[in-house]
Amino acid sequence: MRVLVAGGAGYIGSHTVVKLIEAGHDVVIADDFSNSKPAVRERLETITGRKITMHAVDLCDRDATDHLFTDEKIDAVIHFAGFKAVGESVAKPIDYYENNLGTMFSLLRAMERHGVNIIVFSSSATVYGDAGTSVMHEELATTAVNPYGWTKVMGEQILRDVANARPQMRVALLRYFNPVGAHPSGLIGEDPSDVPNNLMPFIAQVAIGRREKLNIFGGDYDTKDGTGVRDFIHVEDLATGHVAALEALGRADEPVKTWNLGTGNGVSVLELLHAFERAADKKLPYEIVARRPGDLAAYWADPSLANEELRWHATKTVDDMCVDTWRWQKNNPDGYPD
Ligand code: UDP
Repeated sequence: MRVLVAGGAGYIGSHTVVKLIEAGHDVVIADDFSNSKPAVRERLETITGRKITMHAVDLCDRDATDHLFTDEKIDAVIHFAGFKAVGESVAKPIDYYENNLGTMFSLLRAMERHGVNIIVFSSSATVYGDAGTSVMHEELATTAVNPYGWTKVMGEQILRDVANARPQMRVALLRYFNPVGAHPSGLIGEDPSDVPNNLMPFIAQVAIGRREKLNIFGGDYDTKDGTGVRDFIHVEDLATGHVAALEALGRADEPVKTWNLGTGNGVSVLELLHAFERAADKKLPYEIVARRPGDLAAYWADPSLANEELRWHATKTVDDMCVDTWRWQKNNPDGYPD
């Protein structure tokens, strides 16, 4: 398939591009570089040994998106093009709704006009909200507690409604748990433009000396060591999950499929920190501070549906995640060049 990777210059998108090419697919990247750098293209070309087609385009722009579908033959879309910082979404809700739903609308319009029926959507485990359980399975009701989360709940609903109206559509809603890690080459990885919101990039910046210490948000949760517990999944496993989902949609008889992409294992903040200390071979300073508002104590995926239906399993360990993140951070202390 020739796959349009919307937001393909970003963290998860770029790793998925590598796996798509390795699986024999052709890729077209579209990105506005609002949270990524064009320099990723050269890195992708080094890793894959292939020329990468990349368009600088604002996917909220309906006409520009339509032109892209006119210029490039596209068989399927993987939609990563969205803002993703929870805290920022609370401060700038209009930006989040406008961008995350705007990219969805123009992609769906263009797909309809050009007869493209296959789309894989970057959703999130955040759609489970506080489900009153730690193990999240796909049948749970969805909800949200911040604008970012609502854009994922709404994005899923829009896709269900569109598929309902166009039965030839094939939609995968992929609910990610906590993506971390980097390509083992150390050439591509997560490059937060600001102070990292997420745990792993923050730990990596402490290890490289860009931040003094990690603040651990809460040490008195009812968990194995009092710190929060999450399902960290290596971005390479997540990327192969997209390829598996894309291929499964080709043989699916239902229009919409929802799959959790996680390992099924709960790992605590302190466990992740200690794994990183092993990878970097140094002690990392931390302080336990107040809980972060809105955080849940502990949750992880029930990945059995993806395991069975996609014949896909997460294979990488927490140590792999830390070793690969550390290699990326060491080789690129300031992220991608401008
Ligand atoms: N966390 C932390 N310090 C940080 C960032 C995150 O202690 O600087 C904790 C957070 O409270 C949660 C876990 O790490 O328990 C994962 O947070 P992250 O923001 O990476 O992902 P989330 O699970 O919120 O999507």
